[in-house]
Amino acid sequence: MTVPDVAPPVSQDGLPHYDVIVLGAGPGGSTAALRLAQHGVRVLLVDRERFPRSKPCGGGVLVAAAARLSFSLHAVSQRVVYGFRVTYKRDAGFAHTYPEPLAIMTRRRDLDTFLADQAATAGATFADGRAVSAIHRNGAGMIVDFHDGERAVAAALVAADGANGVSRRALDMPVLDRAVALEANSPGLPRHAPDHVSLDLGSLPGGYGWLFPKDGHTNIGVGGWPVVGPQLKTHLAAYAASEGLSPAQLEDVRGYTLPLRRFDEPLTRGPVVFVGDAAGLIDPLSGEGIHNAFYSAQLAADEIARYLSGDVPDLRGYEHAVRRQIDPELAVARQLQALFHQRPWPYVRLLRHSGRFWRSFCRTVRGEATYVGFKGRLGPAASLVDVAAAFAARGVAQRSGWSHP
Ligand SMILES: Cc1cc2nc3c(=O)[nH]c(=O)nc-3n(C[C@H](O)[C@H](O)[C@H](O)COP(=O)(O)OP(=O)(O)OC[C@H]3O[C@@H](n4cnc5c(N)ncnc54)[C@H](O)[C@@H]3O)c2cc1C
Repeated sequence: MTVPDVAPPVSQDGLPHYDVIVLGAGPGGSTAALRLAQHGVRVLLVDRERFPRSKPCGGGVLVAAAARLSFSLHAVSQRVVYGFRVTYKRDAGFAHTYPEPLAIMTRRRDLDTFLADQAATAGATFADGRAVSAIHRNGAGMIVDFHDGERAVAAALVAADGANGVSRRALDMPVLDRAVALEANSPGLPRHAPDHVSLDLGSLPGGYGWLFPKDGHTNIGVGGWPVVGPQLKTHLAAYAASEGLSPAQLEDVRGYTLPLRRFDEPLTRGPVVFVGDAAGLIDPLSGEGIHNAFYSAQLAADEIARYLSGDVPDLRGYEHAVRRQIDPELAVARQLQALFHQRPWPYVRLLRHSGRFWRSFCRTVRGEATYVGFKGRLGPAASLVDVAAAFAARGVAQRSGWSHP
């Protein structure tokens, strides 16, 4: 635990008082705490785990995500990836490379510790190993109860406690839809294309399999719609075997969920803003969530700084910012997800044979292009996408196990 070097001021009720408490020190929470500290805000960043801690995640950070940060992730990068290898239903597949980096491979224990250190260096107080058990309104602000019986007060709270946190339940937020995934680590590197990220498409309804080559080991996983949950173990073993990895040698096998936002859902509750997985901001097409954890945390921190300085009366500007800057991308990603999983094969062929499609994919991964821009370039045909996606979404509703497509 990083002990605060300056004791927080004590409020009238005898409790330690911060401007902001950030609940959860994943990519979202640490980014919010860093940005708030840079705004000169007195911030407490808390996490229930002792750091360094792991989190079920491939640890793949797209260049688009890394580019959101004002510092390099070089220190925690185990490999820079320039190419993807794609298989369809575990066939022999194909590989493409790109002249520029596409992603970096990290271990979440390294990445998250590094990000929390950045926040602490900027002036945030980082308290790890401190689980929050409850949160309550306190006049215009919030009170946080810790498991050890202590409490703290803040004018605002960033709910960055991920897929399984306490904040959504405590504040009576709607239950999020979820995708499911199972991941593991395997010693050694993949037999095929060890420098590439490998994706297996078409084997799992609503998802895919992945191989992420790290430093001397490989992260392997499978994920998809909730209906595939009971079959994930079988899929993981079959995928590992098809890639020459021994299912018996898989270590740290862990299942987890990926929360997905519906667009009519709120993102704030009074002085509380929800970011990253706690807000369901995972990309439904790729399952990638670190990018929007960074992005939403920065939007939230900027709005909180305005709120604390009295420039705005409440935090609803954050909700508007997400609706303007993140939701349109997620909406197209949902459409593409529905279309892709209705019939994956044509898109796999397109990726294999169309240099233009591959370059467009790489530019999106690098943050130089967007799903919205991709759809916009289709011109009048974009309305055909809307019609086809609406039709495909009905299939998703029937096949996925989600309450909404
Ligand atoms: C199997 C799998 C693979 C994935 N692979 C990738 C990938 O390769 N690339 C990618 O971009 N995304 C990936 N994702 C998604 C990514 O992991 C998440 O989107 C990302 O971690 C969200 O960051 P976050 O900060 O919102 O939440 P989290 O990273 O989940 O952090 C939440 C933090 O809150 C803390 N917390 C929770 N409850 C409490 C409490 N009561 N008190 C105190 N602290 C609490 C937790 O300990 C945790 O540290 C993957 C997800 C899964 C499930």
